[in-house]
Amino acid sequence: MGSFRRTTGWALWAAPRQVVVWVLAVEVGALAATAGTAALAPVDAAGLVRFGLLGACLVAHVELSRTVERKREIAAGSGPYLSTTSVWNFAGVIVLPPALASAMVLLGYGYMWFRVWHRRGTMKPHRWWYSACTVLLANQAAVVVLALAPGVPTSATAVAVVVAAGAVRWFANYALICAVKLLSEPRARVRDVIGGFGEQILEVGAMGLGLLAACVVQTPAVLLVGVPAVLVVLGRSAQVAQFRKAAETDGKTQLFNATAWTQFATHALERTSRRGGTFGLLMIDLDHFKRINDEHGHGAGDVVLKAVAKSISEGVRSGDLVGRFGGEEFVVALPDITARELMAVGERLRRGVAALEVPTGHVSISIGAALAPDNGQSVQDLLTTADAAMYAAKHRGRNRVQAAAGLLP
Ligand code: GH3
Ligand code: MG
Ligand code: MG
Repeated sequence: MGSFRRTTGWALWAAPRQVVVWVLAVEVGALAATAGTAALAPVDAAGLVRFGLLGACLVAHVELSRTVERKREIAAGSGPYLSTTSVWNFAGVIVLPPALASAMVLLGYGYMWFRVWHRRGTMKPHRWWYSACTVLLANQAAVVVLALAPGVPTSATAVAVVVAAGAVRWFANYALICAVKLLSEPRARVRDVIGGFGEQILEVGAMGLGLLAACVVQTPAVLLVGVPAVLVVLGRSAQVAQFRKAAETDGKTQLFNATAWTQFATHALERTSRRGGTFGLLMIDLDHFKRINDEHGHGAGDVVLKAVAKSISEGVRSGDLVGRFGGEEFVVALPDITARELMAVGERLRRGVAALEVPTGHVSISIGAALAPDNGQSVQDLLTTADAAMYAAKHRGRNRVQAAAGLLP
């Protein structure tokens, strides 16, 4: 099930009208669809037994994985975070009457609220309810697909129907979560909103296990204990991707740190030079930053650093690599760019920073620009050349972009 949290400024009634309308429409749609599919099949005793078994597994799963899930959820930040409780919801869609499958979603959300989110205060009730409704709606979409081949699949065609139902369920849930995020933060970057592929692949695994759980619940149900065990391992391995991301990121600015930037820029330069392409590099240094720290304090200096980092990231293409290189130094790698374009990007970044409204008044940056292959063949050479150009910009009075020697005709 997808959810999101700690997105700044997402109090429902304070949200823009289109967000409120969207959220209410999804919630009403979810309840209507739930009522609609509930009428498809009656709740019988066998269904209730299966509901009890799957529900008990869900509770055991939440209890066993609370600590790891908490860390994953925090690390997911404002991007989508997928909880592996999808296993039980998807198993429910396959083997339970629709009304009980919906009850399974509410049990999962209710239990998570009671044991995890409410205690921590990380999830607001209206977000929780919206998330629950997205899963309800996605589940009903899967119910409709599964009506083509009801029950546990026994033929290749039936398995294909289950896979299709899983895909529809995943897509509907994901799209509903991303839609409300994009509506409430239209300026957010799409790649931040849609999150990493690592989280999505986890959902595929969760639904695969859901299918297995659906099969096992109809055999000696005691075999079901294997599923929470696999889930605990799955949750732990999902942390690895997050550790890797954390190791590449500068904590203060969320840009690449120097090591990661150098590694990625080296690969990017190799790729472009193999094709005979160009590769630009901008070395950026804040002007008189020491003075800002001295006059306004280190905390205010940090606020400025973050604002400058954000402004630089927003001023470049999505394929460009932005890194924090030193205390108040940034680097940008720009594959496939001409000398003229490189200078134009530098100028745009300089103006963007100069126009920033920061608590300390105005700030400015000095930029040195270098281009491969003209100014150097390696990232190291380009860094040296761009650094020299940046110092020349400082000497010429700061707040300017300086091309490396021989860059411009
Ligand atoms: P110039 O225009 O010549 O670059 O002047 P400057 O004062 O910016 O240059 P200098 O390199 O002497 O000073 C950089 C300052 O950046 C020194 C250091 O205190 C500050 N600094 C480095 N990292 C951080 C940080 O993470 N936070 C804050 N607040 N300040 C930092
Ligand atoms: Mg400086
Ligand atoms: Mg410096």
